[in-house]
Amino acid sequence: MSRMFHEARVLSRQQLTPGMLRLTLGGAGLSELTTTGIGDEYLRLFFPNEKTGKLHLPVITDNGRWTYPDGQDAIRCSTYTVRRYRADPVEIDVDFVIHEGGLACAWALDAKVGDTVTINRPRGLYSRPADALWQLLVCDATGLPALSRILEQTPRHIESRMFVEVASAEDELVLPHHPAAKVTWLHKSGNGVAPSRMGEVVGAVPLPRTPGYIWVAGEQKVVRSIRKFVRQELRLPPERYELVGYWTANGADWDAKWAALDPAIKAQIAAGWNSGRDAEVVRDEYEDVLEKFGL
Ligand SMILES: Cc1cc2nc3c(=O)[nH]c(=O)nc-3n(C[C@H](O)[C@H](O)[C@H](O)COP(=O)(O)OP(=O)(O)OC[C@H]3O[C@@H](n4cnc5c(N)ncnc54)[C@H](O)[C@@H]3O)c2cc1C
Repeated sequence: MSRMFHEARVLSRQQLTPGMLRLTLGGAGLSELTTTGIGDEYLRLFFPNEKTGKLHLPVITDNGRWTYPDGQDAIRCSTYTVRRYRADPVEIDVDFVIHEGGLACAWALDAKVGDTVTINRPRGLYSRPADALWQLLVCDATGLPALSRILEQTPRHIESRMFVEVASAEDELVLPHHPAAKVTWLHKSGNGVAPSRMGEVVGAVPLPRTPGYIWVAGEQKVVRSIRKFVRQELRLPPERYELVGYWTANGADWDAKWAALDPAIKAQIAAGWNSGRDAEVVRDEYEDVLEKFGL
């Protein structure tokens, strides 16, 4: 296995749309960074703790489990997609949605060529079964880098139906060309500017009866409602979908509610994750608990 942490240097900046900034990262510190090749592969950007000024890193095992030698609260990191990976020399493009607040977003907006940031080894989630003939890809702006890379890698015979919600028409990006892909852009939708319509479109779009795959990325409560639909109405088996909460609206409010949550409930949640039971059933229970407490 390759190294877990790498120091990336900002090589260039490019404003893709009013709401999306691309940073290209590279430098000698990335020489050992490997790619999974998976379309939605992501990594974390780690920042110094605002109070201590120190960079605290977790211990991450090869199976992706994190432990926190310095205390969980000390670690400050945010998750981003590797939009493009180039080898020799290694460079990656990372596309940042510009939004209010946020350490990573503020860092990206201020970043100058030559600035550095610590990142970890990427991993991916998208896993379309080999027999799939179609895919439904639905996301907000945060999922656009992954959707674009997924589409780039999609074989010609697979039909892609895509819905992308963006803050305004100017935030549309040119997607990679694919002969069997159709996109519908939802303007002034979700993204913290308006209620999301992702749940509505997933509920309404007719799905072929042939084998397929659903990939969704967006705000966590939006994805939770889609998850209920996919699990309870469509009753798809887990290998037929990947539904990922990419960000949390009103993050400070969420953090405060989580901090105030009864330790017994947190222990119950942890026990679920460690139980070895069906991971999707455990996640259903986890989402139910969060929902119950307004999280
Ligand atoms: C697997 C994965 C891949 C991701 N890939 C990307 C990517 O390629 N590009 C990208 O931009 N994001 C991506 N995200 C989402 C990104 O991690 C979050 O938006 C994250 O909150 C940004 O970190 P931050 O430090 O800027 O803000 P935080 O400190 O996490 O949040 C600060 C405040 O900003 C608000 N906020 C956070 N994100 C948004 C948003 N998108 N719109 C409106 N308000 C927001 C929160 O509600 C919070 O109140 C990905 C997430 C995951 C899980």
